[in-house]
Amino acid sequence: MPAAATSARGLGVAVGLIAGVVFGLAGSGLPIAAPASAAPKTPTGMWRPYGALLDVVVVPDCDKTAGAAAIADPERRIYYCPTRVDYINRRAPGAGHFFFVHEFGHIALDSGDEREVDCWAAREFRKVADGAYYIEAAARFFMRFPRPDDKYGSGKERALRLRRCYADGGPAYP
Ligand SMILES: [Zn+2]
Repeated sequence: MPAAATSARGLGVAVGLIAGVVFGLAGSGLPIAAPASAAPKTPTGMWRPYGALLDVVVVPDCDKTAGAAAIADPERRIYYCPTRVDYINRRAPGAGHFFFVHEFGHIALDSGDEREVDCWAAREFRKVADGAYYIEAAARFFMRFPRPDDKYGSGKERALRLRRCYADGGPAYP
């Protein structure tokens, strides 16, 4: 990727660059960076943190995520791995965005329940102009993983959960 994400230290704001699209701009009035010139046409309506989530700091750190795209910690920080997010976006363009919103869900709900957090994130995309684009991208990505998983359910269950929670607000299970 042409640019690594940077965090605006001291502002409690983090800006992440995902496949040429700036992700998070936490209400600071910072200008949105221009998309990479080679980036394909991308939707403009992305989810943004708001309210009590504005103090969450997003930090690129692949060591912290230990193979995952992103993780949230109890200190209201989200660590993400740019190379992993790029990988996800190459497999399913736009899917990387969901992983960030999912991590904000852990913080918003103060919960480790992956299904509830998935559903929260999917519902959040109802507020986003291009929400359907991101939900479908993430669902396509998860469909690639058919194996059962105790925490998330199978990839297919996860994909269906995202579509269901996005379309009608829930429920989170199965
Ligand atoms: Zn999670």
